[in-house]
Amino acid sequence: MNTTVHTKSKITEWVNVFSQLIGRENVLSTLEDRLCYACDGSKQKHIPDVVLQPHTTQQVSHIMQFANEKKIPVYPRGAGSGLTGGAVPVEGGIVLDFTQMNRILDIIPEDLTATVEPGVVTHTLQKEVARYKLFYPPDPASAAFSTLGGNVAECSGGITGLKYGVTRDYILSLEVVLADGNIIHTGRKTLKNVTGYDLTRLFVGSEGTLGIFTQITVKLLPLPEKIQTLLAFFSSPQDAVKASNQIISNNLLPRALEFIDKSSIRCIQGYKKEIKIPSDVHAILLVDVDGREESVQTEISLVEKILTGNHTLHVISAKDNKERDILWEVRRALSPALYTIAPFKINEDICVPRSRILEMLQRIDTVCEQYPSLQIANFGHIGDGNIHVNIMYKDKSQRLLAEKAIGEILRNTVELGGTISGEHGIGNVKSEYVPVEIPLRELNIMKDIKNLLDPNGILNPGKIFQ
Ligand SMILES: Cc1cc2nc3c(=O)[nH]c(=O)nc-3n(C[C@H](O)[C@H](O)[C@H](O)COP(=O)(O)OP(=O)(O)OC[C@H]3O[C@@H](n4cnc5c(N)ncnc54)[C@H](O)[C@@H]3O)c2cc1C
Repeated sequence: MNTTVHTKSKITEWVNVFSQLIGRENVLSTLEDRLCYACDGSKQKHIPDVVLQPHTTQQVSHIMQFANEKKIPVYPRGAGSGLTGGAVPVEGGIVLDFTQMNRILDIIPEDLTATVEPGVVTHTLQKEVARYKLFYPPDPASAAFSTLGGNVAECSGGITGLKYGVTRDYILSLEVVLADGNIIHTGRKTLKNVTGYDLTRLFVGSEGTLGIFTQITVKLLPLPEKIQTLLAFFSSPQDAVKASNQIISNNLLPRALEFIDKSSIRCIQGYKKEIKIPSDVHAILLVDVDGREESVQTEISLVEKILTGNHTLHVISAKDNKERDILWEVRRALSPALYTIAPFKINEDICVPRSRILEMLQRIDTVCEQYPSLQIANFGHIGDGNIHVNIMYKDKSQRLLAEKAIGEILRNTVELGGTISGEHGIGNVKSEYVPVEIPLRELNIMKDIKNLLDPNGILNPGKIFQ
């Protein structure tokens, strides 16, 4: 485990200054406290020198002015659920913990907008806006604990991406504290806005490397009246992929269209005995359709017809919300269930054009054959081409082998016109593969933007670029 990298006397000076700026109670400096901020979902460990818990934009601005002057690395952090090391303080310095800035500032139903502080948990916002019959669609599987700040920084996706898009599509304006402490406002709280360059989009997905979000205005939609779910079993992935393509080519746009492969199915069975899946099932599709009551009935029967026309072994339809929950349990069980294969996992989130999904799955199989000691399980948001490739390995000595297999999978993804990250971001975990996808000239433009906004390189150093 790497530890703090700055001298004791410097850190003592920082603690004194930050205590004056934001109050001693919001400055965490004991080893026990700092250890809690050493990791994120990527399971790396780097202990920060100090953790700060600001309550206002002004406090963030003051912190940044000092950090910039002293060239101290600053790592913004929401819930620390990121899977690519985004919030991990790889160079020590400051972790800026946003969990105390967690107020929903307004919900304006007439404008279809809400403005929040970055530490608001995604599911909290979803629940609050639902009281006004409004809907915030981006729905990462981590919505119960991840924050809006983290979602915006990673441009998180989720199961509703096919129909509703991703976080980027819902961010109207941002309040951003820049590396030098200056506060700027991007976009407007309007549903349309084309004045000037789209700075909001530049910051969305910037992984805490360009600026720090202190207020976020999101777009809302009317809450769908009804959601209906189908679970379909197939004997081959080819049939499942064909069925999913036909659903979309028949002008149907499900709220969710999820795919689960054979290896993933086997782990669910091992993990939850109550989930019974016949042994001849080699692929599963899970489909949600939403909208007004009457249109949902029509659409779900059309989807069912397409599924049964593509050699399904069995289709189960949920009659009510309780049954819907049971069907979704199959998908929810997946992440923990994978550990029944092996104790170590590398989780990739590649995305290819939908027309190349089958080819991508075949190429993953080919890579898998070259590494017989590893196991690969695939599932994901097939509707938008986003496949979660999970490489499972039995002990740490296989890590290098797993990384080699990943390199091949990512190169194949880019060859098929895809991207190495559909939703989890790059962080430091995938930075070595960025040049596989992004040509040098484009990469240099990105680096120029970074240098313009953060000339001292203090914002989340060690991320995205190598
Ligand atoms: C079980 C599980 C399921 C998941 N499912 C999904 C999924 O379905 N889809 C998906 O896209 N992701 C998923 N994730 C990944 C993760 O939850 C998302 O990336 C999420 O958006 C991270 O939010 P967070 O609050 O935890 O951010 P953190 O992990 O704390 O930080 C993530 C990044 O955001 C930056 N950041 C945080 N706050 C700010 C701020 N205020 N200003 C600027 N930068 C900031 C950090 O520096 C870091 O780079 C999952 C993770 C887990 C553990």
